Amino acid sequence: MRAPFSHNTLLVAVAIGVIIVSTGTLSLVSYHYTVGRAYLVETSLVQSIINLVAQKIERIEQAIIDNDRILVEMADVNEPSQWPAIRDEIKASDLNVDEVYFARPRQPFPPIYPTYSNEIRNLWGAYRNSFNLKDIDLNRLALNQPHHLAKERPDNYFFASYVLKEDRKGQRYLVCFQMNNEKIIALLDRYLRDLQANYYVAVVDFENNGIFNQPISRSSKYYYETRFPSTLYKWILQIVPRYYSEIERDVRNQRRTNLFLIIMSMTLIFSSLAIIYVAGRRERQLRQLKEDFISNVSHELKTPLSLIGMFSEILKTGRVKTQETRMEYYSIIHNEAERMGHLIGNLLDFASLERGKRAKHFEPVNLSQLVSRELEAYHYQIQKEGFQLSTEMPEGMPEIYADPVAISMALFNLLDNSVKYSGDGKQIAVKVVQENGYIDVSVADKGPGIPLEEQQKIFEKFYRGSTAVGRKVRGSGIGLSITKHVAEMHGGAVLVDSKVGKGSTFTLRIPIRKPPGQEDVEAST
Ligand code: ADP
Repeated sequence: MRAPFSHNTLLVAVAIGVIIVSTGTLSLVSYHYTVGRAYLVETSLVQSIINLVAQKIERIEQAIIDNDRILVEMADVNEPSQWPAIRDEIKASDLNVDEVYFARPRQPFPPIYPTYSNEIRNLWGAYRNSFNLKDIDLNRLALNQPHHLAKERPDNYFFASYVLKEDRKGQRYLVCFQMNNEKIIALLDRYLRDLQANYYVAVVDFENNGIFNQPISRSSKYYYETRFPSTLYKWILQIVPRYYSEIERDVRNQRRTNLFLIIMSMTLIFSSLAIIYVAGRRERQLRQLKEDFISNVSHELKTPLSLIGMFSEILKTGRVKTQETRMEYYSIIHNEAERMGHLIGNLLDFASLERGKRAKHFEPVNLSQLVSRELEAYHYQIQKEGFQLSTEMPEGMPEIYADPVAISMALFNLLDNSVKYSGDGKQIAVKVVQENGYIDVSVADKGPGIPLEEQQKIFEKFYRGSTAVGRKVRGSGIGLSITKHVAEMHGGAVLVDSKVGKGSTFTLRIPIRKPPGQEDVEAST
């Protein structure tokens, strides 16, 4: 009988264990994923900045290199007589050039052309101070390949593209294109402008002087800087995302939401498990109670049956001498048969209550009379067992509209309990009282009482209290649950007032009601 049960318990325990382990693992993985994702967002933000900057720098450099190619093309060294025209043409076109110098490779200054003039005084001065042999590695200069020179000047920058060229006769020339700083900055602006919607962007020199925009603090979060590799190689591009705090806040919020969801789902899963566990335990307890119930009921039936059998056997032999003893045996048989009848009635009632199919036969009932009848039936047993019975049933109580069979059953259960659980305090008091629109029938005993923590449970089906179990009092645990049901089906209740060691009083409270249709008649008379 018990093997499949424990097998089931083991299965449930394993299932619960698996659920707990998998939930825990899943939550851990989700947590790591969430935290990892935040880190990923940060690294991908940094990576996207690096990519963006690399792309922009490449474009700017490419623009300068493309410009150089055109300049190299235009600077024809074959005809010195053409140099002024070439110079004018280059300066006039949109190639960022302020001045063009044609010079000997080993002697950049003074150039062969142009010669000094007041008009080019400033440019000439910058050229002289910046474009000299120590900055040009002639041995590494390839023919027709543009090179760049970037230098800081006290209050300005010197930028030049230069190229080694050869004429038809094999004569080499160094051509230097002195670039216009403003136009280079305009070029930066053209390529970096669109970045400024989402980033702070600046270009600075090695001393951190702002060339394009103000320098950015290097301690800013997500700050990134890189040098222009070949053309503007003395300059550094700085960048910081404008809205990183928003991005971080989003990531933080997302992390919080995810953690909240993880905790929520864990709580839900664990509470569901707790509910399953509690439900399972209740189920097991109920099963246990039912098993006890069957064995209790069998005992309940067996005792009166064996008494009936024994006394009828004695009577049958005709050996009972006196009429008095014979009558006593007859009443024992009668009482035991009645007890069995009540018990079977209780069982049938309980079964139909369980199925919710008990037929109700309501009629006007005088509760005092019903109680008296019930006591009469019980009188003999009460007296025989040495009980003192006191009753208080005032005349002229109003009738109630009730099911008399059900009420008798409820009364029997209360009386039977008071006899069963009285122990040595053999006093029973039955009272019928009218109060606040109710009729209360109370049955009080001086028995051991009921512990407070059991006082609600005793109305549950199959529940047997510690007194019943401890003192091995016969019973099936359904009497009070039937009584409660009977009271509730009449719109009333069963109340218990009990103190351990002092006794218990159970009160069946039924509302005073007229049969349907008669209330109005009463009210109008
Ligand atoms: P049963 O009497 O068959 O056990 P009941 O439903 O009638 O079942 O009662 C439930 C429990 O309530 C009893 O087992 C007993 O512990 C407790 N009980 C009921 N009536 C009394 C009483 N008058 N005095 C003490 N305990 C009582």
